[in-house]
Amino acid sequence: MSNSRITITIDAGHGGRDPGAVGIGGIRETDIVLDISRQVEQLLQQQGIEVLMTRTDDREIDLPPRVSLANRTRSDLFVSIHANALTMSRPDVNGAETYYFSDRGRVLAQAIQSNMIAATGMRDRGVKFARFYVLRNTQMPAALVEVGFVTGAEDARRLADPSFRRVMAQAIARGILQYVQQNF
Ligand SMILES: [Zn+2]
Repeated sequence: MSNSRITITIDAGHGGRDPGAVGIGGIRETDIVLDISRQVEQLLQQQGIEVLMTRTDDREIDLPPRVSLANRTRSDLFVSIHANALTMSRPDVNGAETYYFSDRGRVLAQAIQSNMIAATGMRDRGVKFARFYVLRNTQMPAALVEVGFVTGAEDARRLADPSFRRVMAQAIARGILQYVQQNF
């Protein structure tokens, strides 16, 4: 079937005065997630999906407008992309995880998570329930992806590599497309 009537909001976390987490070698969550998000945008567009971005550059955006973009446009899915962090004294903690709030969000989160782990071989931290604002307030299936720890020795090295970020974006897009094919 055609994806031409599917609209997905992609939300690159943080931006502007809020860099998100800052990790090993000074890598910044805001930059990593913007790069991955823009690649996911392109990959979904290539499959005929209409993609709305909460940001396409390094600017600060509060959480309510991120949610209202998706709700106002009646987006079919909402995917927020973040990177994780712990204290710099825990470089041993690495891995990807995906959060959900609703039941349908859990299915979306599982599709994204399994594709991320299969494509990257990262440590699988699983899918987890969370009451994050953007998950609670979006009216469509929603997932929040954590693409790895900027404070993790393994993850930080990989996230700093553009070719790894490409693989990550392809995996997230593949997970989203899998959900679309099975649910629309
Ligand atoms: Zn974040």
